[in-house]
Amino acid sequence: MTAIRKTAGLRFNRKGKYVLGLDLGGTKIAVGLVNLKGKVINSLREPTPLGSGPEGVCERMAEMSKEILLRTGVGRREIAGIGIGAGGPLDLKKGMLLSPPNLPGFHGYPLKDKIEEYTGMHAALENDANAAALGEMMFGAGRKAKNLIYMTVSTGIGGGIIVDGKLVHGVGWSAGEVGHMTLKPDGPECNCGNRGCLEALSSGTAIAKRAKEEVGENPSSLILKVAEGGKNTIDAEVVFRAADLGDTVACRIIDEALFYLGIGIGNLITAFSPETVILGGGLTGAGDRLFVRVREIVKERVKLVPVNKIPIVPAGLGESAGIVGAASLLLQKPVGV
Ligand SMILES: [Zn+2]
Repeated sequence: MTAIRKTAGLRFNRKGKYVLGLDLGGTKIAVGLVNLKGKVINSLREPTPLGSGPEGVCERMAEMSKEILLRTGVGRREIAGIGIGAGGPLDLKKGMLLSPPNLPGFHGYPLKDKIEEYTGMHAALENDANAAALGEMMFGAGRKAKNLIYMTVSTGIGGGIIVDGKLVHGVGWSAGEVGHMTLKPDGPECNCGNRGCLEALSSGTAIAKRAKEEVGENPSSLILKVAEGGKNTIDAEVVFRAADLGDTVACRIIDEALFYLGIGIGNLITAFSPETVILGGGLTGAGDRLFVRVREIVKERVKLVPVNKIPIVPAGLGESAGIVGAASLLLQKPVGV
C-alpha cells in the first residue's frame, strides 16, 4: 500500500548555511537572508499588499525571497529554512493565524503551510514579538541571558518572555501579552476590550490620544506648534519633542505614560525576576528620557527582587529585529551539523 504524503511539512535542511527571515506586519513585509551568526546579508522591505489577500501576500513574500537569493547568489540548497514572525494570536501547532487585528483576511489562515507551498522550503512560525525576544537573546542585547523579558513599546505594546532559554507560550499560545495587563481599573478603554491596560496608558497611540484631548484645553501648549499640521498630526514623537522643549502639558503626559510603563515593567520583574529587561519599538528612540524614568520607577516599586542586578536596556537588533527574530526560530536548531 502506498501512503500519500502531504506537500506541507517540508524538512528542515540541516546542511543549510543561511536562513530566510520573514516579517509579516499589517503595514509592511520584510524578508531577509541571515547567516548562522544572525547577521543580515541582504533584505527587502515593502508595504504589505493587503489588497491582494493572504494568497497575494504569501506569493509576494516568496518572490522577495527568490529575489534575495538571486541578488546574493545563494542557492536554495544553502537555505536551512524560513522563519516567519507574524502578529498574533496564532495557533503554533497548526501554523495558523487566528484573528490578527492588523491582517484582515488572514483569519484562520494556514500561513506556515502556505509559505512552504509557495517557496518549497521548510518554514516555522512564531508570534512576531516572541520572535524578536528570541532574536534579542541569541544575537541582540540579551546574549548572556537565559531569562529575559522583551517589550516592544510602539503604537501598541507587545512582548515575549523567555524562561530558562525558552519562550513562554502558555495555553492557547497567548502568553506574553504584556501590553494588556490592567494597571488602572477605571482607565481609558483599550483596543482589546478591557480598560486601563498598559497599552491604553503608555503606548504611542495612548500618548498621542491624550495630547489631542489636552491641546483643546491648553491652546498655548507647544505640542500644537511642534506638530505644525494641526491636531491630527500629533503623534507620540511630537509630544516627546514638545516635552524636550520644556512644555508642561507634554511633560505631564509623557511622565504619566512612563509612570505606568515603569509600573508595568516592575510588575513583570516582580513576577519573573529576569536577568534583563529589553525594550524595543519606536518609543525607545526617546532614549534616556524613557529609560532613566522607567528605571527610577522600577527601583521605587519593586521590593522583593534584586532590581539592581536587573538591567533595563535598549534592544540591540534595531531595524533588523523582525527579520533576525524570525530567522532565530530556525537558528535555535543545530544548523550545519
Ligand atoms: Zn488591552
